[in-house]
Amino acid sequence: MTSNTITKFSVTTPIYYVNAKPHIGHAYTTIIADAVCRWHRLLGEEVHFLTGTDEHGLKIQQAAEAQGVSPQQFVDSIAPLFEHAWDRLNIKYDDFIRTTEPRHAVGVRKLLQACYDAGDIELDVYRGQYCVACEAYFVDDELVDGKCPIHNTPTTYVEEENYFFRLSRFEDRLLKWYADHPNCLTPGNRLNEVIGFIKSGLNDFSVSRKTLTWGIPLPWDASHVAYVWFDALANYITAIGYGTDDAAFSANWPVDYHFIGKEIIRFHCVYWPAMLMSAGIEPPKGWAVGGWLIISGEKISKTTGNVVDPLDLIDEFGVDGIRYYVLAEFAYGSDGNFTYEGLVSRYNSDLANNLGNLAARIATVVEKKCGGLGTAPAADSVLASAAATAVAETSQGWANVQPSRALEATWSLIKAANSYLEQNEPWKMESGDAVDRVMGDALEALRIVAILANPALPTTTQEIWERIGLTGNISDSRINIDTVWGQYPAGRLVAKGKPLYPRKTV
Ligand SMILES: [Zn+2]
Repeated sequence: MTSNTITKFSVTTPIYYVNAKPHIGHAYTTIIADAVCRWHRLLGEEVHFLTGTDEHGLKIQQAAEAQGVSPQQFVDSIAPLFEHAWDRLNIKYDDFIRTTEPRHAVGVRKLLQACYDAGDIELDVYRGQYCVACEAYFVDDELVDGKCPIHNTPTTYVEEENYFFRLSRFEDRLLKWYADHPNCLTPGNRLNEVIGFIKSGLNDFSVSRKTLTWGIPLPWDASHVAYVWFDALANYITAIGYGTDDAAFSANWPVDYHFIGKEIIRFHCVYWPAMLMSAGIEPPKGWAVGGWLIISGEKISKTTGNVVDPLDLIDEFGVDGIRYYVLAEFAYGSDGNFTYEGLVSRYNSDLANNLGNLAARIATVVEKKCGGLGTAPAADSVLASAAATAVAETSQGWANVQPSRALEATWSLIKAANSYLEQNEPWKMESGDAVDRVMGDALEALRIVAILANPALPTTTQEIWERIGLTGNISDSRINIDTVWGQYPAGRLVAKGKPLYPRKTV
């Protein structure tokens, strides 16, 4: 069956809490989501990429008070730091939602009302130990020496009237939904963890606070404001029109993936689908669950010897150097150890030595042996099958949300092209047909590599594109059409330029 319908692909990142500046954990999830979206744009899909900031709650209220500003002034000062960080990392999001926006409040109130009308939100009394820094209650056996297990600070006994979401009623419905959607989690081994949470027994959770003022009032009881879950998780639907534009919402929900870190899997994969079911909304199609990037205690900056924000390494390695390291070095879903030495090593081997060297060699030989003009590839080149394999395996890697495997497949073509040059040694040949053929093949391999690597290296692949004489925006390429062997046009001016990835020393 043929169809002119454009495939849609939509993803979200968590909204990041604005009590602190962006850090590598935020950046990691956001870079992965961005690269996956860029790949899907290359497939010709209509992509929607949502990120944003979580701006309500007690910690924000307290941080604002400490600075002597209003909560709104406080969040207005932090949210732009996230937008700026994503600009620096070349994150191409389609929407940035802030939970203090009117469109969000409208949707949150609609969702709360829907769950309340369904009978799944009820007034009750909460008694328990509360950590202000966590904004979370703890049962006694979760405390360590009577203190918060995360902050190691004393908790407070709190007894208050709260509205509760009756999560305990959703066990069977959630288990059935997961049984019907066995492939919804990426990597797939996270499914057992979620099933385990559900089978271990679900507790109702508190959805409101009377003591808090910095939040969204409940539609049926303005003496309470919405607490964390209904406010934060709802961003995924309020941003695309829930409560404000029903047509847009139904056209764009459910999303393909919520990208999340493993620490929030319970809230995203148990609380959230239950909330949606209560409101009569289909759960998301999937979740992509990442591990943690642990910043090693060893030095992360050679200049100061101190542990610094890895975002500060952009100046040293380029935005593409940082993006490439986190995408290629760590298997998505597993924990990884972010180190300065690891970054230098990955940068030097894959970018400086492999890709940078291939581009430089090609430009040098074309300048010396081909009059600076690119030559045509041969249809029967040995690199043609290497390219076809790289395209297929790169596609598979991105489809599985495994950027490290995708890039490994792309780099196999770079290595094949470098080996091909080393075997043929065109720099030793006399100008003529033989050298033209070798260089045409190498240029064609580099052209295909540039397209395949574009989601990871958006800036430098555009630079390679232009240096080999191609015009337009490389990100307008289409995998199915433009990675087919044999399209590099002869006669284009090939420019050498400065090294794309100057070698680094530790
Ligand atoms: Zn705590």
